[in-house]
Amino acid sequence: MDNPTEKISSTLKLLRVERGWSLDVASQKTGVSKAMLGQIERGESSPTIATLWKIASGFDASFSSFIEDLKPIKTDFTHHSHSFKHLHPQDDKIRVMPIFAYDESLRFEAFIIELLPGCEHLSPPHQKGVIEHIIVSSGEIEVFINGAWHVIQQNEGLRFNGDIPHGYRNISDSKAVFHDMIHYRKL
Ligand code: MN
Repeated sequence: MDNPTEKISSTLKLLRVERGWSLDVASQKTGVSKAMLGQIERGESSPTIATLWKIASGFDASFSSFIEDLKPIKTDFTHHSHSFKHLHPQDDKIRVMPIFAYDESLRFEAFIIELLPGCEHLSPPHQKGVIEHIIVSSGEIEVFINGAWHVIQQNEGLRFNGDIPHGYRNISDSKAVFHDMIHYRKL
């Protein structure tokens, strides 16, 4: 399993330089403490998935850009194969594989996400315009939207606006796998 600490650190530094934001400003925009942002930039610690989403949303950047290099899209034929990424020990029951890294012309990225039994993952709101499509490929998950958990079974899908707090959990006793396709609509 790859450890993406270095890519996260360099992407954060690059974005902060591009925006011309001090650590103070970056902290205000993302809701992540200055100390934590500094540690992540220096590669001293990796963010949790929830913290990385706060950073991505605050910078109006995609989640996968912190994990994968952005490549210009080739629509004729591209075979994508990636490994699961391990971001943080706290996220030991959730594994994220970016299967299609973010593409600026499509404003789209796709992940395969595995939830081990007992995993409950809560996500902060993403930036406005983000839409998630979830398709369960194996097992059964529950998705938290608008104050309630919704059961999504194998081969079922759910689409929702990602700009509100939401969550995913696996209360079964076997592993669940779903695809999470994320569109960053321009508003
Ligand atoms: Mn989400």
